[in-house]
Amino acid sequence: MSGSGFMIKSFKYYGVSWFLSVKSMNYDYNELLKRARAQVPEIALKHERLEVPKLLVSTVGMRTTISNFKDIADIVDRDPQHILKFLTREMATAATYHESRAIFQGKFPRDTFERLLQRYLEEFVVCPVCKRPDTSIAKEKRLAFLVCNACGARSSIKQL
Ligand SMILES: [Zn+2]
Repeated sequence: MSGSGFMIKSFKYYGVSWFLSVKSMNYDYNELLKRARAQVPEIALKHERLEVPKLLVSTVGMRTTISNFKDIADIVDRDPQHILKFLTREMATAATYHESRAIFQGKFPRDTFERLLQRYLEEFVVCPVCKRPDTSIAKEKRLAFLVCNACGARSSIKQL
C-alpha cells in the first residue's frame, strides 16, 4: 500500500519538473527569437530565397512541355530526373526528359507545375531546420537525407 503512495508522489514530482522545464524552454525560445531578429546576418538572408525563373510551359496536342526544365534543375541544384520523378508521381502521368526539356503526357496548366515545384522545394531542397536552400541529397542504403550546407542539419526525406 505504501508503494502506491510513493508512486503518486513521484508522479507529482515529475509533473512539476516537466512544467518547469517547459516554462524555461519557452523563455529560452523567446530570447533566441529576439536575438535572432536583432542580428540576422545579411549573408544568410541573401541565400535564404531561391529565385526560380518562370516556367516556360506550352501545350501541343496532348503533350505539355516545360522548355526551361534544365535551367530550373540547375538553379535548385537537383538532378532533372529526380524532379521529373516527383512531378510525374504527383500528377499520375508519364514524362520524358530530352534536350533540357521535360515533356509530359497530357494537358497541364503552368500553375499545376508551379504548385508542385513549390512542394518539391519544400520537401527536397529547403532545409527544414534553418529554411535555407543550400542543401544536397545523400543516400545511404535505402534511406535518403537532406544535408544542409548552411547549418549542417541532416533530415530524412522520402526516397523517390
Ligand atoms: Zn539548415
